[in-house]
Amino acid sequence: MTANEYQKNCMKFTSQISTATKDNLLLQGVMGINGEAGEAIDIVKKYLFHGHPLDKDHLAKELGDVLWYIATTAEALDIDLHTIMQMNIEKLSARYDEQFSTDASLHRKKSDI
Ligand SMILES: [Mg+2]
Repeated sequence: MTANEYQKNCMKFTSQISTATKDNLLLQGVMGINGEAGEAIDIVKKYLFHGHPLDKDHLAKELGDVLWYIATTAEALDIDLHTIMQMNIEKLSARYDEQFSTDASLHRKKSDI
């Protein structure tokens, strides 16, 4: 499945209230990204600080939930997921060239967000 096929599939599982307006879809998307990211970090918190085993399966499912909300947020912006992925890699390539470096991370251009 391509990124854009995934995005199209995601929209099948979006509520009518969410798709009633682009603003609804946008708000649901950014709220959902944050909510699901919170679920993911809670799993890691329990692993690192509460002595729980790392529940990789649960964490993978939460990553999928984050991805779903990213895809639907992209839909609200009328941007396909493949384009967002490509934009991100281009941004990181411009920032780091071949690979991550602390120096490049510390000395980013003001326009590099
Ligand atoms: Mg979840």
